[in-house]
Amino acid sequence: MRFYLENKDSVLQKCKSTSKGLSSEEAAARLERNGKNKLAEENRVPLWKRLLAQLSDPMTIILLVAAILSGVTAAYSGESYADVFIILFVVIVNAILGVLQESKAEKAMEALKKMTAATSKVYRNGEITSVKSEDLAVGDVVLLEAGDSVPADCRVLESVSMKAEESSLTGESVPVEKATDALPLNGQKDISLGDRTNMVFMGSTIVYGRGKAVVTAVGMDTEMGKIASVLVNAKHNLTPLQIKMKQLSKILTWLVIGICAVIFVFSLIRSGNFSEKSIINVFMIAISLAVAAIPEGLAAVVTIVLSIGVSNMSKRNAIIRRLTAVETLGCAQVICTDKTGTLTQNRMTVVDHFTDSESVLATALALCSDSRLGHDGKAIGEPTENALVNYATSLGLKKNELEESAPRVGEIPFDSGRKMMSTVHPTQEGFIQYTKGAPDVILKHCTCVYKGGREIPLTPEMRSQILGENKRMADKALRVLGSAFRRYSTKPSSYKSSDMEEKLTFIGLVGMIDPVRPEVEAAVNECRGAGIRVNMITGDHKDTAAAIASQLGILKDPSQAITGAELDDLSDEKLEKNVDKYTVFARVQPEHKVRIVNAWKKRGMITAMTGDGVNDAPAIKSADIGVGMGITGTDVTKNVADMILADDNFATIVSAVEEGRRVYDNIRKAIQFLLSSNISEVISIFVATMIGFTILKPAHLLWINLITDCFPALALGLEKKENGLMSRSPRNPKEGFFARGMGADLIYQGVLISIVTLVSYFVGHFMEHGVWEIAESPDGMTMAFLTLSMAEIFHSFNMRSQRNSIFSLHCQNKALLGAMLGSLVLTSVVIFVPPLANAFGFMKISAEEYFTAMLLAFSVIPVVEIVKFFQRKLERRR
Ligand code: ATP
Repeated sequence: MRFYLENKDSVLQKCKSTSKGLSSEEAAARLERNGKNKLAEENRVPLWKRLLAQLSDPMTIILLVAAILSGVTAAYSGESYADVFIILFVVIVNAILGVLQESKAEKAMEALKKMTAATSKVYRNGEITSVKSEDLAVGDVVLLEAGDSVPADCRVLESVSMKAEESSLTGESVPVEKATDALPLNGQKDISLGDRTNMVFMGSTIVYGRGKAVVTAVGMDTEMGKIASVLVNAKHNLTPLQIKMKQLSKILTWLVIGICAVIFVFSLIRSGNFSEKSIINVFMIAISLAVAAIPEGLAAVVTIVLSIGVSNMSKRNAIIRRLTAVETLGCAQVICTDKTGTLTQNRMTVVDHFTDSESVLATALALCSDSRLGHDGKAIGEPTENALVNYATSLGLKKNELEESAPRVGEIPFDSGRKMMSTVHPTQEGFIQYTKGAPDVILKHCTCVYKGGREIPLTPEMRSQILGENKRMADKALRVLGSAFRRYSTKPSSYKSSDMEEKLTFIGLVGMIDPVRPEVEAAVNECRGAGIRVNMITGDHKDTAAAIASQLGILKDPSQAITGAELDDLSDEKLEKNVDKYTVFARVQPEHKVRIVNAWKKRGMITAMTGDGVNDAPAIKSADIGVGMGITGTDVTKNVADMILADDNFATIVSAVEEGRRVYDNIRKAIQFLLSSNISEVISIFVATMIGFTILKPAHLLWINLITDCFPALALGLEKKENGLMSRSPRNPKEGFFARGMGADLIYQGVLISIVTLVSYFVGHFMEHGVWEIAESPDGMTMAFLTLSMAEIFHSFNMRSQRNSIFSLHCQNKALLGAMLGSLVLTSVVIFVPPLANAFGFMKISAEEYFTAMLLAFSVIPVVEIVKFFQRKLERRR
């Protein structure tokens, strides 16, 4: 249907709608009939494919080869198939766990997607309400304004200088001005997408003005839907940490396979026995080394801990849109924040004014606002404008009555670059334009002032008196707006700011209070303790900004405040050099935000930047962590943000930083745990093999690595924040994963666990044979298995803090206690339940042997505690 060729009425008729939209019942019926307004989802990978993907890992392939070889030997030699079953069982359980973890992480991200679902303002039953964009039906009439994403394909019914950016569809980056009249074909066959100026399309954004439009196509029927298959298959991005871990796993895997090949050849030559049985024996040793060394759970643990972090953050109102943000938040060094709504409550009330006629002032301000008066007599709309409409009401001037006698016939919408807004209304003599905006800006365009019912020329004395009043209010932390008017004898024909917002007559000023959010001062303090700088960036007046910033402890000295105009005088190099001298940037334009972010970034600082308006998107994009506002933010900024604040609150950013730090800490803990366990296994097997003993079989190591180890690793990911988390400086984003002593810790702890394991084996071996001879020792093997698995479990408690004593940690990690219990049960089951013990080749050990093995395992706690004690001493001395 080519709606752009038809006039508005015929479009409404064809869509079976009216200019006041549909009824709720009709919309629901149409939704039921035609489906939701959303693009087809990515096809879910079927379960069998996911399982197969888990099995295609090189590590798993080696294990499957080992299973086949064991099977073949068992068939030839008539030995039991136990090894085959154990290996297959572990491989399958591991693949299932892998799929479960993956889908858990996916579910967390899906839940977040739902939370950030777009909404639209739409007429239902003749009233404006907000509905989820996916619940729009053909015939719905939507309201669009600057910053909105267009939710579906629509025919424009009303346009007030409305411009849309349609580059995602047409490639054209210059916004297109929208009109309402039917388009002529002029002999062409059709009109190209970019020239359909009376239509707006799903996926484009309104960048200026406002308007009304009727939905003509939804979901896959939209122009976007036609090309959606391109978008649906967008790849999921991995975070730097995930990429690093994937790489590390890969390198380790191939390294280990290389070493195993060498050991295989070496052992075979040393044994001098090339019989089938010997080859398979040696091969099994090499396999056990591979199993021991490859940290199977590494990548999975990172992913799952990150996704736990994401859901924790969302519980604290920080909604993560890109997983990378979780990591980056932990290294945030600068937070650049808006003032209105983020540091303050955005609940404005007029408390001061300066004018010759308060009723003229209030009338002008109320008429020049988009806020409406609700049924309860309170204003509905944007907070600044609500304050103005409520102010007029308090003087007995109701906005709806004012508008009835002087309806709006034209307007130039507000934009934060101009910092003004104008509307035109009919009067008895002709027309009047009311303009409101930043007082300093308004005053620049005034030539007269309204006094004693007359327009008299504005003298320099009056000008400085007005500016003085502005400063008086701003110093009290009030947000000040100025108002002016201009008369016309005939209706203006074009609505251009440069023509109309000139030669104005000044009416007066109002000062609005916007109380600061009570929790922000503490959050700013916390940032200071955490080595994070806070910058206030605001469109508001310097004095207002400075007054609020010093209330919050952001500004210590007036010299730390700078205005956008002063920034214009600084070159980019100068700004980069001096950016740390300022904490308050006032009267800025959105472009300044980009310069400030870039200056910080050039200095190598990880910067978070908040934004809400249409023009903030570039700054949010440039920042390391772009922060969008959930309540006041426009779709445009939300779409480019890495994180959205559901409550617009500055304190939420700080708690997200805290969570980011905790997540990174926990990932480090889990990885240190996994890698030190792997190292201990490699050393134990390697040493034992070199001196001719078999202390553990591949099946044993598999059981430990893939079954008992994964619970403590995940439990470490749930560890609560450590004391002092927010009193250390931000992590250096460039630091390697093994920095801050982790590499050395990992190695000594690995050595420690292998020593206790080897000792345990030899104790068992000695108790069984009574003499030192090279022979198989089921007792020794059982003890080594018990010691190794339990030492790793105990070691996971050591990992609760890299340097602090575990006895100094206040809260318990219940998940870790549970993991210990679970692992203890699993270990005991394979040792003591006869059929399983037989399959694993374990012996029923004596109570003495059991306690010796446990004691050896437990010794890792006191030893690591002692080392930590000296490490702390050393660090303090440094
Ligand atoms: P922040 O950047 O901290 O959110 P802000 O809301 O003051 O602060 P802008 O929305 O860019 O930033 O507004 C800039 C200035 O424009 C304000 O200080 C005010 O003087 C003026 N202003 C704000 N809203 C309106 C409006 N609806 N109509 C006219 N002028 C406005």
